[in-house]
Amino acid sequence: MSEKFDVIVVGAGPAGTSCAYTAAKNGLKVLLIERGEFPGAKNVMGGILYRKQMEDIIPEFWKEAPLERPVVEQRFWFLDKESMVTTSYKGLEWGKEPFNNFTVLRAKFDKWFADKAVEQGALLINETVVTECIVEDGKVVGVRTDRPDGDVYADVVVLADGVNSLLAKKLGFHKEWKPNEVALTVMEVMKMPKGSINERFNVEENQGVSVEIFGDATKGALGTAFLYTNKDSINIGVGTTLSGMIKKKMKPHQLLEDLKTHPMIKPYIEGAESLEYLAHLIPEGGYDSIPKLVGDGVMVIGDAAQLVNAIHREGSNMAMASGKMAAETILKAKDLGEFSERNLDSYRTDLYDSFIGKDLKKYRDAAHTFEEHPQYFEQYVPLMNRAMNTMFTVDGTPKWDKQKKIMNSFTAGRGKLGVAKDLYRAWKAVK
Ligand code: FAD
Repeated sequence: MSEKFDVIVVGAGPAGTSCAYTAAKNGLKVLLIERGEFPGAKNVMGGILYRKQMEDIIPEFWKEAPLERPVVEQRFWFLDKESMVTTSYKGLEWGKEPFNNFTVLRAKFDKWFADKAVEQGALLINETVVTECIVEDGKVVGVRTDRPDGDVYADVVVLADGVNSLLAKKLGFHKEWKPNEVALTVMEVMKMPKGSINERFNVEENQGVSVEIFGDATKGALGTAFLYTNKDSINIGVGTTLSGMIKKKMKPHQLLEDLKTHPMIKPYIEGAESLEYLAHLIPEGGYDSIPKLVGDGVMVIGDAAQLVNAIHREGSNMAMASGKMAAETILKAKDLGEFSERNLDSYRTDLYDSFIGKDLKKYRDAAHTFEEHPQYFEQYVPLMNRAMNTMFTVDGTPKWDKQKKIMNSFTAGRGKLGVAKDLYRAWKAVK
């Protein structure tokens, strides 16, 4: 592999493939290196793929991509031990073109997407691990792979190697992520007949539902669980920050087992057969954890750059948008004839100016606030459930008395001032 490329992209996830696709489409000589047997073979995602950022790369991709169901309903469930408070939005317009988002199975989707990059002219090499960047005179000039004679050279190396991002770490772009900067998530894909999915989730054959679950699902730790409907399977998973998992001494597989047997969840998955069990980290450090993004001859995109909005469960779209932006910057640098940090830096500024930088900035304090003040998940979710129970149990108690009882239950533990502070703090964290 002594050939020189314009761009080497490490990792064929949504970020890497978006970058490879855009660069190859615009005439650059691109090498896309993937360690898995095929792109997607090892990739894990709850399963919601956003239409907008994918369409910016391949217009009307839904006409040929291997998608599961367009999501028409977003539900939120706040779980207690034997009850839940729910809220949702269902919009049939989301089930029609141009759609809002889709459930996907990454093994199928990533492979299809990488094949599209190959159609544009990118060279894809699977089952190859990039072990380090080759640096000469302070500039990244290529990568070392685990293949015999495996050094490859390029004007620019784009690191899209996901959350662990060993390559960016080796370059000194960031330190080891701290336990509160990553969430550990486990999930299962479970086979279920189409008819059961449609009946249990109250949808038609070509309609999907995404459910985000809080409270008892994570034993009150900062995190969420999810339930997404595919064509004839469902994805169920749960995750919390690694720090939350450590603090509460929780075992991820036990969390998932408890979720599956929770009386509110069990009826939805009864009879479903486990097809796949997956575990993965999600970068959730947010705005303040974004590492150095650009160096001489090198750029970092997607999860490797901590580009995940955990509050809105957006990661794949940020990965794609960052990959596209990186490729567009490389094209501009090519015109300038130099791939210095200065010439590649517009990727960083474009990223911070885009919805990615703005949304991560908006929620920069959210994760820390909710982690440092566990009462939001530990106390308020059970209180919400008890309040509903009190209000809607018909037992002859006058409603004013019920209202008073509910108010007292909220202030009993934390006092009026404590509750007011909690409300203000939560509002400040997400405003
Ligand atoms: P990845 O998808 O991780 O891809 C990295 C690629 O690099 C992989 O193919 C890997 O094999 C390869 N690689 C790594 N190291 C090397 C190396 N040294 N050499 C060669 N190849 C290498 N996002 C959403 O938008 N919606 C969701 O519903 C959602 N749910 C999620 C649920 C879970 C359980 C998890 C874990 C994540 C979820 N996310 C979700 C986040 C989303 O999956 C990521 O943000 C997205 O996959 C990031 O894409 P990426 O290309 O940066 O990284």
